[in-house]
Amino acid sequence: MQVPLSKTCQELIAQLSDFLDGELDAALCEKIERHLATCDACRVATDTLRKTIALYHDRRVAVPREVHAHLIQALGLEQMHSNTRGA
Ligand SMILES: [Zn+2]
Repeated sequence: MQVPLSKTCQELIAQLSDFLDGELDAALCEKIERHLATCDACRVATDTLRKTIALYHDRRVAVPREVHAHLIQALGLEQMHSNTRGA
């Protein structure tokens, strides 16, 4: 399935759970935070995943892959909305 996200966004989202778990090194965290400051789609993804992780941490299970897939799908829609609005 094709996902209309930039490579940077896809890489960031792939690392998002480690980032939120505090498992990435400081340099990578800084890189992600800088991207989040400029990217609405990734900010939404981070916020959503942070809440999801908090939920799953309660139950002590890993965030399932389908949550990631769902998130990326939701982001595709989010980007389309931004494009419709114009810059
Ligand atoms: Zn992004």
